[in-house]
Amino acid sequence: MRIDVLGVGFDNVTMAEAVEFGCRLLEQPGSHYVVTPNPEIVEVCRNDPAAMAAVNGADLVLPDGIGIIKGAAMLGTPLKEKTPGIEFAGYLMGKMAEMRRSLYLLGAKPGVAEQAAEKLRARYPGLSIVGVHDGYFQEDGPVVEDIRRSGADCVFVCLGAPKQELWMQKNAMATGARLLCGLGGSLDVFAGVVERAPKFWSDHGLEWFYRLCKEPRRIGRMMKLPLFLVHVRQEKRRR
Ligand code: UDP
Repeated sequence: MRIDVLGVGFDNVTMAEAVEFGCRLLEQPGSHYVVTPNPEIVEVCRNDPAAMAAVNGADLVLPDGIGIIKGAAMLGTPLKEKTPGIEFAGYLMGKMAEMRRSLYLLGAKPGVAEQAAEKLRARYPGLSIVGVHDGYFQEDGPVVEDIRRSGADCVFVCLGAPKQELWMQKNAMATGARLLCGLGGSLDVFAGVVERAPKFWSDHGLEWFYRLCKEPRRIGRMMKLPLFLVHVRQEKRRR
């Protein structure tokens, strides 16, 4: 059973359980998708029923960061642990390399996915990256066709939220891939274009603050975090 945080149902799993489940989905016929909402995405979903449906329609819904963990605890329904999308992706690539599975990278500015592919091939020998495409395309058709032709088992869809969730909901089946993962800005990090907060900051629940210092233009988006906590408090009173 999922744990409801302001309408988004999160799977209550550890990182190890999430990765194991992801591997099982890779083995199952049909197409599946994973989403990793943070408080900002939950706030977007509250105002956008289509985004809410795409997020809740996922086969695996993972809490991306400390904000969701805090929110769930405040509501009296704690989640086991945070399972950041980028870390989930790292573990999954390790397993896919062992399982000799193939991956397609979709998203980010032109050139970034190629750079990410080069770095990931070096880090995960055995993982076959069978295609890449930037995230600034006009029509879905040719991109879906390229993924299908590549025969990829898994696709990392990094178009930002809620675009990537809506894209996966609509196109997952047509890509022919078993598993699609919506991973926001992860390709920028894998490519080395954007730096992830050092462990100290994320261990102390301050990754958001580190990111804000590095990219002050995110302030507008980050104001959704206190708003999220206000809404959680209201929900707690209502319950
Ligand atoms: N992006 C994209 N296509 C778009 C809009 C965004 O490929 O139409 C990419 C963007 O280049 C970036 C990622 O999506 O690589 C979103 O990054 P952001 O930092 O916003 O995501 P977060 O990790 O915060 O969810």
